Amino acid sequence: MIRFEDLLEKVRDYNPDADLELLRRAYVFSALEHKGQVRHSGEPYLVHPLEVATILTDMKMDAVTIAAGLLHDVVEDTLTTTERVVQTFGREVAHVVEGVTKISAITFSSSEERQAENFRKMLLAMVDDIRVILVKLADRLHNMRTLNFLPEDRRLRIAQETLDIYAPIANRLGMAKLKNELEELAFRYLEPEAYDVLKAKVERRRKASEGVVEDLRRTIVAKLRDAQVPVVEVDGRTKRLFSIHEKLRRQKIDLDRVYDFVALRIVTRTIKDCYAALGIIHQTWSPVPGRIKDFIAMPRPNGYQSLHTSVISESGFPFEVQIRTEEMHLRAEEGIAAHWKYKEGRVGAERDEPYFVWLRQLLEWQQEVRDPQEFIQNLKIDLYPEEVYTFTPKGQVKPLPRGATPVDFAYSIHTDVGNQCVGARVNGRMVPLRTHLKNGDIVEIVTQAKHKPSRDWMSIVVTSRARNKVKQYLEGEEKDRAVELGRRLLEKELRRFGLNTRTLMSDPELQRVAAESGMQKIEEMLAAIGFGKLQARHVLDKLVPNEELKERPTKGVVSAVRRALAGDNEKIKVRGADDLLVVRARCCNPIRGEKIVGYITRGKGVSVHSVSCPNVTNLLYTADRRIEVEWDRGADQGGYTVALALVVEDRKGLLAEISAKIADVNTNITNIEAKTHDGHLDRMDMTLEIRDLKHLEKVLKSLRKVSGVLGVERAPK
Ligand code: MN
Repeated sequence: MIRFEDLLEKVRDYNPDADLELLRRAYVFSALEHKGQVRHSGEPYLVHPLEVATILTDMKMDAVTIAAGLLHDVVEDTLTTTERVVQTFGREVAHVVEGVTKISAITFSSSEERQAENFRKMLLAMVDDIRVILVKLADRLHNMRTLNFLPEDRRLRIAQETLDIYAPIANRLGMAKLKNELEELAFRYLEPEAYDVLKAKVERRRKASEGVVEDLRRTIVAKLRDAQVPVVEVDGRTKRLFSIHEKLRRQKIDLDRVYDFVALRIVTRTIKDCYAALGIIHQTWSPVPGRIKDFIAMPRPNGYQSLHTSVISESGFPFEVQIRTEEMHLRAEEGIAAHWKYKEGRVGAERDEPYFVWLRQLLEWQQEVRDPQEFIQNLKIDLYPEEVYTFTPKGQVKPLPRGATPVDFAYSIHTDVGNQCVGARVNGRMVPLRTHLKNGDIVEIVTQAKHKPSRDWMSIVVTSRARNKVKQYLEGEEKDRAVELGRRLLEKELRRFGLNTRTLMSDPELQRVAAESGMQKIEEMLAAIGFGKLQARHVLDKLVPNEELKERPTKGVVSAVRRALAGDNEKIKVRGADDLLVVRARCCNPIRGEKIVGYITRGKGVSVHSVSCPNVTNLLYTADRRIEVEWDRGADQGGYTVALALVVEDRKGLLAEISAKIADVNTNITNIEAKTHDGHLDRMDMTLEIRDLKHLEKVLKSLRKVSGVLGVERAPK
């Protein structure tokens, strides 16, 4: 067990100016408060805060952080209040302790909604003062080291939480050393059998290769010395159990096929020497193609920098070589902690470091993204990055998560570029917007002024930035529609009682009612009506004293209003509630005559699908949100726009014949687009005006008869 005096000694070593008196007082305070408390291990409780403080000392933290480490459990586990910590140790220490206490109260194994809220709280505490998460991580590390003393259920819960939450956060903050230990420990407790088996296997292989690795190391040292490339150190190590385990599982391969089982690390003085060393390694052994990675020129999102290559020795032994400078090495091991040293320098010039950029970004999102599920999804993509490196035509690097598309790329440049993106050239060739970008792709975005994001983009973007921007745009558009609908529904309600819409719908009147309904803006209230969250009648009651209300049936107006409102959606009636926002689903775009079913969406009214729509049959919706809808017999018999996709053979006169056939069945074409592949016509997209299901069937039948038409499908609108 570490003695407090040893801790002081260490602090004095790296920070002679540290406020040791503060540490001494914190230690005594903690000892008194935790007096009599015992850990599961049987040791006095005080051992825990002392160990946590020691971990922070090893990270060379400032005195405030170490004091907070000593005090981190006093508010949570004793009768001490935050106020007392403020009085005794000042605002700064108390602030960090309070942050840690807040995070410690969070359990992540709750419902998704709660979990998102918890995450948000934790991020806020973290962004507020990064030292909070450093103390929390040190706390978690010591708890993981002593996990074997806990009962099994708690052991599993804590290990899982560590793997899901704390290790990824440590990783995102660039703290590889701490992350690695957390992962190894979590693996050991979560899958003890797999851990033991793998450990034995790895140990055998490591022993067998020990001599080889030492030879390789000596060869490298000698070669670098001959070439006069100065190095700080060269050492060999075997890959960690958890990452081998992950790799075996992911790639379904055998331990023998893991190329980076052994890695040799070369630490140099300068970047130039890194590349010189790489050249010498490649002259000595054959590199494995596709395994050379330049993270110096293209750092990982968490700031990690290094050169990686895999080579094969004369005897056929594969191994990885990692080359970096001393400074890169320090940052690779300690990450953000390397920035929060005792120097008390605060952030400042380091604000541009990737971790701080990331934290600022988090802060931005947490203000932008209201929906907790959305928020947690963003965060997950961001916490478990698997990146590809793409380039602008000018050679600027854009790291993106795996699966990213040109739309993600466009938004990473600028919101306007994203919004107006109509196409993309990858390595000089036009590609569909849903293409997954690969490492090294040079991406050029084609934009068009006034172009707008489409709803389909939600399914092809993966970066949180693009998702948020597209969603923001769509929500804005939807809200405009809802405000308009709400205004008209309210007018309709007023006319029903023969009231004067002009005076009653004046701004001051509406403002008054909005305020009474707990809303700041008129728009907000109208949107609530449009979304079906607020009854128009409810607003009316507040606008006009009850005794003045006398209903006058004015049927004609009602249907006229409904038609004006929702375009061709007015042809659908919702039983028992005709003031709901009704939208025909784009996925199946049902038309009169088809069997339909309605679903109440979250805040967006009723979405009407064809009964045979795959989204319905796949049970995307739960039964209690189902609502009966029917085609409105009273509505006029105007047309629907229906999109068709034709697969065709390229032949002369095809387009003319298709147009003629469509004219034969009395149908208007509103749009037609021919698509070519390698210079040959192979697809046609068209939009038609269709009266009802029977009419559509007639059109489909006559199109299928045209020679050269291989297939006709209905397409989403
Ligand atoms: Mn603790």
